Amino acid sequence: MSLVIGIDGPAGSGKGTITKIIADKLGLVNIDTGAMYRCVALASIRNNLKVDDAEEIIKLAKNIKISFDKEGHVFLDGEDVSTLIREKDVSSIVSPISSIVEVREEMVNQQRKLAEGLDVIMEGRDITTVVFPNADYKFYLDASVEERAMRRFKQNQEAGIDMSYDEILDNIKKRDYNDMHKEVGSLMRTDDQIYIDSTHLSIEEVADEILKHIKER
Ligand code: C5P
Repeated sequence: MSLVIGIDGPAGSGKGTITKIIADKLGLVNIDTGAMYRCVALASIRNNLKVDDAEEIIKLAKNIKISFDKEGHVFLDGEDVSTLIREKDVSSIVSPISSIVEVREEMVNQQRKLAEGLDVIMEGRDITTVVFPNADYKFYLDASVEERAMRRFKQNQEAGIDMSYDEILDNIKKRDYNDMHKEVGSLMRTDDQIYIDSTHLSIEEVADEILKHIKER
């Protein structure tokens, strides 16, 4: 039987950094589902589609090829788009695009296929509720919105992405609202998730906390 660890949480809660650490420590395949929705958003921009062009976006989502390499780089039809998908234009439309129900169905199917037969750690918004409701371990990673915006600001600076702190804070607040009010696949807390508030914790402390839960069982 393969092992599935699901981690959900809002933008900037540290899911990406933490899942990489846990994946390396436990030898798991790391799947960043937000990157997949970001690929659909980038492909939509490149095809001059607007968020309202749902039919066309659904077709696109079914036709593009999204893949990952072992280092966590993201490929859209074979092109490494790891940095491009973090840019402002993608970040500002990814949440409404991921609200299109058929886009979600397609991505959820692809996510389940990517995990087939493997030991995986998968991060996103609906992993513990929709994609793998029976995951072996379910975590919800949280932090205050200001802390999350600051983390994203620093990450972007390191990656050479030009967005001010205020712009990021505004974008994250809008995405939080949208991500928590989707028709399908909303970000939500449930009783069976292990909840971790990382506002005042270092990356190592969060990783240790998660590893502790995994070792305890
Ligand atoms: O995780 P990240 O912030 O890169 O995700 C980008 C966006 O993709 C989120 O704001 C959310 O709208 C969407 N998403 C989603 N379901 C997931 C992962 C991400 O709807 N499982």
